[in-house]
Amino acid sequence: MRALPAVTDVCIVGGGPAGAATAAFLAREGLGVTVLDRARFPRPKACAEYLSPEASRLLEELGVLAAVEGAGAAQLAGMIVRAPNGRQIRGEFAAAHGFRGFRDRGLAVPRTTLDPLLLGAARAAGADVREGVRVTGLMRDAGGRVAGVETTGGTVRASLVVGADGLRSQVARRAGLARTLPFFQRRVALVAHYEGVSGIGAHGEMHVERDGYVGLADVGGGRTNVALVVPVARSAGLAGDATGFLARRVAAIPHLAPRFATARRVTPVLATGPFASAARRGWAPGVALVGDAADFFDPFTGEGIYAALRGAELLAPFAAEAARARPGVAVRGDALAGYERARRAAFAGKWRVERLIGTAVTFPALLDRAAIVLEERRDLADLLVGVAGDFVPPREVLHPRFWSSFLLPRRATPPRPSAPRLATPA
Ligand SMILES: Cc1cc2nc3c(=O)[nH]c(=O)nc-3n(C[C@H](O)[C@H](O)[C@H](O)COP(=O)(O)OP(=O)(O)OC[C@H]3O[C@@H](n4cnc5c(N)ncnc54)[C@H](O)[C@@H]3O)c2cc1C
Repeated sequence: MRALPAVTDVCIVGGGPAGAATAAFLAREGLGVTVLDRARFPRPKACAEYLSPEASRLLEELGVLAAVEGAGAAQLAGMIVRAPNGRQIRGEFAAAHGFRGFRDRGLAVPRTTLDPLLLGAARAAGADVREGVRVTGLMRDAGGRVAGVETTGGTVRASLVVGADGLRSQVARRAGLARTLPFFQRRVALVAHYEGVSGIGAHGEMHVERDGYVGLADVGGGRTNVALVVPVARSAGLAGDATGFLARRVAAIPHLAPRFATARRVTPVLATGPFASAARRGWAPGVALVGDAADFFDPFTGEGIYAALRGAELLAPFAAEAARARPGVAVRGDALAGYERARRAAFAGKWRVERLIGTAVTFPALLDRAAIVLEERRDLADLLVGVAGDFVPPREVLHPRFWSSFLLPRRATPPRPSAPRLATPA
C-alpha cells in the first residue's frame, strides 16, 4: 500500500456521498484533501437507492449527473404510499402547486454505480482517495483539539478532520458528538434487488404495514430495489437468516405476495441497523460531521443521499475557512459554528416533516387517517411528495392551513387521467 500522507489540509473519513462530495468541493478550492475509506469501491450499501429531484442539482454541480443518467438510472415520476388500511396516497413531482425541482423526476440507481462516480468526481477535483484504510482513532493537540486521525496504515495530521463515516460514525463517537436515540426510534432494514416483480411503474412505492414497511422502486436494468424496514422489537428471527426473513415478510403481505410470484432475487440481502443516528451538533474544534455521521432518521422519505450532498455543499465554505485559518495546525472551532447554523437553517424544517411522517408510520392509525384524506386530496399529496423531493419548502406542509385540511370536510380533487394505480392482485 502507498504510504499515507503525514500531513494534509483536510482529512475526510468516509468516501460515501457525503465524503466524496465534501472532498470534491474542497479540492476545487485548492485545498489538500485526503479521503480515507475502510472499504474498496464499489462496496455494498443497504439503501433504497432513490434520489430526489433536487439531488440532481447537486449531481450536476459535482459533474456526474450525465454519467448517472447515462448509467441507466430509472426516472421516477413521484411516490405512492399504501397505508395499512389499503388507501393509497399518490404524489407527483411535476404538479400544479407552482414549485419545480431541478428535474421533474427523481432518479433511482444502484449505489454500486452512484458511489464510485461520486468518488471519481473527488479524484478528478484533485483529492487523494485511499481505499481499504480504516480510521481507528483521533489525534489531538496539546489543547485537546482534534488534529488528525489514526488509521490501520499510520497517522495523518490535518488542519481539519471531516467525519463522513456514516451510521455509527467513529469520528462522531470519538469526538464526543454522538447522541443516543430513544429505543422506539430503532429500526432495522433488509435490502435486495429482484428481477421480475410485476406492476412496477414510474413511481416509487411504500407499503406500510402495522409492523414496518416495504419500499419498491425500479433502479434500472430491469431490477427492483426491495427494502424492508421493521422496528427492532419486531425483528425476532432475523439474526442469522436475513434472506429468509425478507422472503417471509414479503410473502406474508397479501397484496404484495402475488407480485413476487415469478420474481427472482439477484443480489444478496444486505442488513443494516439500528440506523437512526444523531449528533449533538455538527462540529467540535478541529472536526466537522456531514451526512449520516451528523444525522439520519429514517429512509421513508428517501433523502439521505440528498442530505449528504447538500450537507457537503453547506460545509465546504466553512471547512475551507477553518482549514486555511492556521495551515497544518488544528483549527479554532468557531470557524465551524457557522456551519452548524447553516445546517440547521437548511434542514430544520425538513427534520420536523421527517419526524411527523415517522410518527405516522410508527403509529399506523395516524397514517390510516391521513391516507383517507390524502387519497382524495392529491394536491396535498403532491405538496408532501414535493417536500420529500427537496424542492417544496417544508413550511408548505408545516403550516396550520395544511393540517386543517385533515379536520375540515373533505374536498376531492379531480383524478389525473394518466395517474397509474398500484397493481393489485386479481
Ligand atoms: C434501509 C435504508 C434505505 C435507504 N434508502 C435511501 C434512499 O432511497 N434514498 C436516499 O437518499 N437515502 C437512503 N438511505 C440513506 C442513505 O443510504 C444514506 O443517508 C447515505 O448513504 C449517507 O451517505 P454518507 O456518505 O453519509 O454515508 P455512507 O454512504 O454510509 O458512507 C460512509 C462511508 O464511510 C466509510 N467508513 C465508515 N467507518 C469508517 C472508518 N472507521 N474508517 C474509514 N472509513 C469508514 C464506509 O466504508 C462508507 O463507505 C437509506 C438508508 C437505509 C438504512
